[in-house]
This record gives sequence, structure tokens and C-alpha cells, in this order.
Amino acid sequence: MRRNPIPLARYAMPVENTLGRRYPELPHPYRNEYERDRDRIIHSRAFRRLENKTQVFTRRFSDHFRNRLTHTLEVAQISRTVAKALGLNADLAEALALVHDAGHPPFGHTGEAALNRLMRRYGDRFDHNLHALRIVERFEQKYAAFPGLNLTFEVREGIIKHSRDYDPEAHPELAEYRLGERPPVEAQLIDPADEIAYNCADLDDGYEAKLLTFAQIRQGVPIFGRQALKEDRKYPQAPEKLKFNEALRRMMDQLVTGLIGHTRQGLSKMGARSVEDVRRAKTRVAGWSAPLRSENRRLKEFLHQNLYSHRELVRERRQILRLINELFNHFLERPRNLPPFYFEQTHREPAHRVVCDYIAGMTDHYLIEQHARFLRR
Ligand code: MG
Repeated sequence: MRRNPIPLARYAMPVENTLGRRYPELPHPYRNEYERDRDRIIHSRAFRRLENKTQVFTRRFSDHFRNRLTHTLEVAQISRTVAKALGLNADLAEALALVHDAGHPPFGHTGEAALNRLMRRYGDRFDHNLHALRIVERFEQKYAAFPGLNLTFEVREGIIKHSRDYDPEAHPELAEYRLGERPPVEAQLIDPADEIAYNCADLDDGYEAKLLTFAQIRQGVPIFGRQALKEDRKYPQAPEKLKFNEALRRMMDQLVTGLIGHTRQGLSKMGARSVEDVRRAKTRVAGWSAPLRSENRRLKEFLHQNLYSHRELVRERRQILRLINELFNHFLERPRNLPPFYFEQTHREPAHRVVCDYIAGMTDHYLIEQHARFLRR
């Protein structure tokens, strides 16, 4: 098996120690197991569908804004950078970043909230991490020898645990994923990398869409404001858009550098000598120092107050909620309108779960098309 050219840190997850795949396969002559997982993810349908799933802005705003695919690529880039700087297994981090949003339904968080609310009626819930696991284990049908993508244990574990811990008692079906333990650092860093990517991107697209102004961001986001002040001094004559870009990229650099530094410090403080030490630790180690955490919180609050709740986005959200509600109820009442694969599932699983799986897998465009097909009045 090909070795990593740079030796990994002791706390990294070595691919040679993987707990492997559910269905054993022969090793590949020149790709390691995490590289193979990355490739399987990129070649999956769920990955290609990300192109037509909203991040924050639907296509009507602009066609150079982020969608969930370009967002995913930004997370992968940040994750690789952080992983390499810390001596972690960058192949594992990259695979995890590329799959981290595979379970996201159409229309971003609006779609997620809508499905969750519908599922609650049945005492159930929609969770995009668990949905991603169902996709890679069941819904991707590509191989003759097994269902799903047959990913390694660490990638499946990271899909569930990259952003939160699950209570082992509430989720006995996930027992194999060692819910009482922390995931490897490669999985832990995906959540902060995701936050950096979407906070910076949302400021960028919000400014481009003219829903946010440069002055408003400078005033409301101190970490951005300080960088902007430096740009004023350095390039007093530069057009506002370029000052904005410079301040944004320096803010991103500060958040990434801070994440690397604080995580490295945490690892040395806990004296982590192996991935097992990371797993046994009481808390996660990847993250920011307290001051940077509070800067990041300010940034998030600013986006919530000024962008996500902007009337332009709220109006659109109402429309999307209606489409999802109506389509969900339609398929529940008429399960025969589901594609055969999903209709078959209704004999084995509660119908609301099957309908939720089907809608969650749709792209924005397909959801609108299905609504028009069955519910246009
Ligand atoms: Mg994400």
C-alpha cells in the first residue's frame, strides 16, 4: 500500500489501522482505503445532486453564488489544509468533508426544518447526519456485491459524529459507532471547517446580493471590521468590493489559523499519543480559543439577524415550506405515486419515513417538478 510521503502525527488516524468495510474487499494497488472512499463519494449520485441543492440562496439570485456542491468543495479545501497543518490524515478529512452534506434535503435549512416538523407529527425526526448514513449504506445502488458504497468504518462513523454526539441509549441502532467515544480529530475538524466555509460564503453572497452592505458588516462583525480597517490603510484608493474581498479572506485565514493553533495546543495539553487517546478524551479537541469562539459567535448572530431573516429570504422560505408540506402529504395519501423502490419500502417501514427519505433525496429542481406534476391546481 502507498505510504503517505509526510509521516502523520501520532494522534492521527492511520489508514493501516482502519476497522475496514462491512463487506471485505481486496486492497487497491495504488489507492489507500480512504482515497477509495473519497472517490466513491465523488462518484455517487448523492454527491452530484448537491449541485442542485440550495445552500442559502436559490438560483433566482445569481448563478455564481454557492450551492451545496461548491460549499462542499470549500469545506474540503479548508479541511485538507487544517488536517495537513496538524499532521492528520488529510485523505480521511477530505473524504469526510466531501460527504458531510450528502444527507441535506433540497432548499437548505428551510427544507431540513420542514421535514423535521413533518416527522415530529409521527413522533419521529429528520436528522441530516443519519440520513447521510442511510444514503451511503442503502440508497446508493452501484455495486453488484453489496448495497450502498461499502465505506470504511471511520468514514461512516465520521458521517454521524462530525457535528454532534448522539446519546447511546437513544440510538441503540448506532451501537457499532462507539457513541460514548469522541471521533478521530479528522472528523472533529469538519464542523469548524464547515462553519468557516459557510459564514465567510454567506457574508460574500449576502454582500453580492446587496442584502448586506460593507458598512453594515464592518460594524456588526468585529473580526471583519478590524481586517477592513487594515485594508483601508493599506489600499486607501481600492474599490469597496476589493477591500471587502481582502478583509473577508483575511478573516477566513484568521479563523483557519486559529483553529489549527488551538487544536494543536489542545492535543499537546491532553498528551495525545494515539487516536485512541483522542477517542477516550472527555471532550472534543478541535476548535477555537475562547476569544475566537466569541468572535465567531458574533459573526453567526450577525448573519442570523441580518441575512437569514432578511425579508427577501423569508418570503421565499414560506413558498418552499408550502411545497414540501403539500408534497409530503400527497405521497402519504397516495404512496403508489412513489417510485417503485420507495413504494416497496412502505411494506417494511413506516410510510412517513419512506416519504421523508424520498423527499430528502430530491434536488430543488426535482421537488418543484414533482410538486407541479402531482399538485398543480
Ligand atoms: Mg455544510
